[in-house]
Parts: sequence; C-alpha cells; structure tokens
Amino acid sequence: WLVRALPLKNDDGKIVKWYGTNTDITEQKELQQQKDNFLGIASHELKTPITSIKAYAQVMQTLFTRSGDSKNAELVGKMDRQLNRLNSLVADLLDVTKINTGRLQFNYETFDFNEMVEEVIEDVQRTTSRHLIKKALAFKKELTGDRDRISQVVTNLLTNAIKYSPQANEIIIYTEEHETEAKLCVQDFGIGISLDKKDRVFEQFYRVSGTREYTFPGLGLGLYISSEIIKRLGGRIWVTSVENKGSTFCFSLPIKQSTV
Ligand code: ADP
Repeated sequence: WLVRALPLKNDDGKIVKWYGTNTDITEQKELQQQKDNFLGIASHELKTPITSIKAYAQVMQTLFTRSGDSKNAELVGKMDRQLNRLNSLVADLLDVTKINTGRLQFNYETFDFNEMVEEVIEDVQRTTSRHLIKKALAFKKELTGDRDRISQVVTNLLTNAIKYSPQANEIIIYTEEHETEAKLCVQDFGIGISLDKKDRVFEQFYRVSGTREYTFPGLGLGLYISSEIIKRLGGRIWVTSVENKGSTFCFSLPIKQSTV
C-alpha cells in the first residue's frame, strides 16, 4: 500500500484537517519485478553468444592478418567494434537490473587513482582520433574503492564527451586531490545541455532529444549507472554545461570508500 497524507491549512497556516489516500501498489510492484526479472534474464542470456562470436572474430582476424588478407582483416575488425558496442549495451542493461534489484556489489581494493585514469584514457584513445588531454594536479594518495566500477564511470564520461562533441578536437580530463577526496572532471566542447535538462540526464532512460543536425545512439543508461555507482561509493556527480559550448561532468569520491 502507498499511503499519502495532505494537510488542509486555515488562513493562519495552521493545520485543521488531514486528507489521506491509500493506493494498492502490489500490482505495480509485481509488474516492475517481472520487468526487472525479464531484463536480467534476457541480458544474461545475450552475453554468452556475444562472447563466443567475439572469440571467433578474433581468431578470424588473426588468420586474415597472417595470410596477408588486409581487406578481410579490416572487415572483421569493424565487426569486432560493433560487437563491443553490443556488449556494452547488454552490460548496461545487466547493471541496471542489478541496481534496480539491489544486487549491485562492490569489490574494494587500494589502488593508484592516477594510474587507473591513465589506463582508461589509453583504452579510449585507441578508439578515437580526438585528442584526449589529461591535466593532473599532484596526485599522490592511493584510493580505496572499487577500481573497475570507478574506471567504468570514467570510461562512460569520456565516451559521452566524444559522442556529444562531434565537431571538437579536444577533450580535457582534470584530476584533483584534496584532503579526503579525489575529484575528476571531463570537459568537452560539444553540443552542451540546456539548464532545464541538466539534472535530468542522470535519470534512468532519460535522453535529451537529438538536434536537427545530429542524432546520437544510446539507451540513456550510462549516466544513471555512473551516478548510482558514485553515490553508493559515498561520492557526488554533477554537470555544468552551456548549450552549444560544451559540458563538464565531474565526480568526487572519498579517498577511503565504503558503501552507503
Ligand atoms: P546515452 O548517451 O546512451 O543517451 P547517458 O545516460 O550516458 O545515455 O546520457 C543521457 C543523456 O545525457 C544523453 O542522451 C545526452 O542527451 C546527455 N548527455 C550525456 N553526456 C553528454 C555530454 N557530454 N554532452 C551533452 N549531452 C550529454
């Protein structure tokens, strides 16, 4: 049952009466649960065949490269990149079901934040001709947290920055170390986000509709997952943006994290 109460006030602002409503939400909850179960099973089942197709594609690429067949090697390379996209869509769906059913788990370790950020930049740089520039401010402390999940967030912010700045050459990544927290920002010079939509981008399935010139692919899940990860690790995530100028997405995390 969902119970809602509304006060009725007199001219002096004193409450004179309460109105109450009771709504049966059992059915809604069951439907939501069925949807989460279905998404969970479907994305789990999709993962296995994608993994084996990827393995076959890699074998094919090695064979083509060895026999000097560069045309086919290139085609298989393209296939592999599309498989990566499919993989990350399925991984996002799986993460969302984990979040919605309270099954997102974290593995803690102590690691070098700076090194992790550099690794992510290197990986993403391989996929783009854009210039990814890193500006780090004296990062010495080690972080205790979920390295993989935090690098997932950095990857998401970077790939979004690339995707939503189709005409820009540069993307800047800043890191800052403070007394008890680490901060990272990704700045792009792209399409930006209007003020009224700015905070909604962290909502599940929310997407700002495409401009006349561009349409961008996506499910509207990356920022929702990122914000859930950061919040659960005790941090904050936010964006500052000017339409048609660009956006800066930042997060800060406690140096020593534990789930909240
Ligand atoms: P997706 O990119 O798959 O749509 P996200 O959750 O990552 O999903 O982002 C949600 C929405 O926020 C996007 O659809 C886009 O409208 C907006 N957005 C995210 N990153 C940026 C950015 N760097 N610049 C402009 N808009 C962005």
